[in-house]
Amino acid sequence: MEELDVSDGFDVHDYRHGLKLLKQDRGTMTLENREGFACPACGEPFERLFVSERRTNSFGNPGGPFCLARTDESLLVLTH
Ligand SMILES: [Zn+2]
Repeated sequence: MEELDVSDGFDVHDYRHGLKLLKQDRGTMTLENREGFACPACGEPFERLFVSERRTNSFGNPGGPFCLARTDESLLVLTH
């Protein structure tokens, strides 16, 4: 199982074959994990990935466990 690598930034194009873009907004993206990629925080496969380059973000009820990862440019929220 391939784990998302956030050690030197995160480029969605490196994983585009397995991440389906669900929603894109100014500075944010929501993607669905179609390849069973593993979460960089806990090592388990995640369901959805939210990537944000914005300074602040608000969420409703995530409905389950989630993990966070950050790079210099962006914040990643991974839901399980
Ligand atoms: Zn995780």
